[in-house]
Amino acid sequence: MESINQKIHLENTNVSLYIKREDLLHPRISGNKFRKLKYNLAQAKSESKQTLLTFGGAFSNHILAVAAAGKEQGFKTIGIIRGEELQDKISENPTLQKAQDFGMVFEFVGRSIYREKSNPEFIQQLTEKFGDFYLIPEGGTNDLAVKGCEEILTKTDKKFDYICCAVGTGGTISGLINCSKNGQQVLGFPALKGDFLREDICKFVRKSNWNLIEDYHFAGYAKVSDELIVFINEFYQKHKVPLDPIYTGKMMFGVMDLIDKNYFPENSKILVIHTGGLQGIAGMNILLKQKNQLQINVYD
Ligand SMILES: *Cc1c(COP(=O)(O)O)cnc(C)c1O
Repeated sequence: MESINQKIHLENTNVSLYIKREDLLHPRISGNKFRKLKYNLAQAKSESKQTLLTFGGAFSNHILAVAAAGKEQGFKTIGIIRGEELQDKISENPTLQKAQDFGMVFEFVGRSIYREKSNPEFIQQLTEKFGDFYLIPEGGTNDLAVKGCEEILTKTDKKFDYICCAVGTGGTISGLINCSKNGQQVLGFPALKGDFLREDICKFVRKSNWNLIEDYHFAGYAKVSDELIVFINEFYQKHKVPLDPIYTGKMMFGVMDLIDKNYFPENSKILVIHTGGLQGIAGMNILLKQKNQLQINVYD
């Protein structure tokens, strides 16, 4: 499967910018989460598993993607959700509500228990409670996910000098690095603060033509500012490309800022990956409204 590269028309610069619309890959399984799940679902089937179990937070694109993919491919799905307080608020949370509509069963846990998500004893307890399952880690990143993300770039993408993407757990950028050409530079824009990311990416990649640009996380995961919201709304008005506030909005803000600052050499060809995540806008807008802040407006 290939997605289209859409040109973004820029003024007062000689770099060229294209956006790969992975957000349009599948109507319900968003962008990179589709890529990350592809080989994991095949593996679950080959192991005759009937249930997928995974982990995520309140607005997780990954949780909703697993719920939708499970529904589509005939798996039961279980989501271990961070935050006991969300238990009685499913109907106020568009992400969890949609996941539940796709049939996902939730287990809400406190933050300290959630931190045990890779601990074999905790996994054993979950097996006792729910029976046998295929485990997909938080954010969906594992070897098979990276393999799926190695299919994002195509032959015609060889012409680009820079490949840019948003980074959460590092699985997507790892796949991009592995399938990039040596002359290409892959730039990751982390959506959160964290020193662990470089090490995590090194576990999956065999090349060194990449870097992380850590100046555009806007104070941390799922944190937003008015400046970011204004940027997302204006970007949509100008280019008709919707961006999400957690990942792609921050990455694109960073790319445009770097273009303004002449970070990229003259005539560079830049490809940014739209990894999706647009389902998160509704939930973010509810929070912004509660706080009386500017909301995201990327709908016609
Ligand atoms: C999950 C996600 C990412 C981050 O992907 P990783 O593989 O975890 O780094 C980026 N963009 C969007 C829209 C996502 O949903």
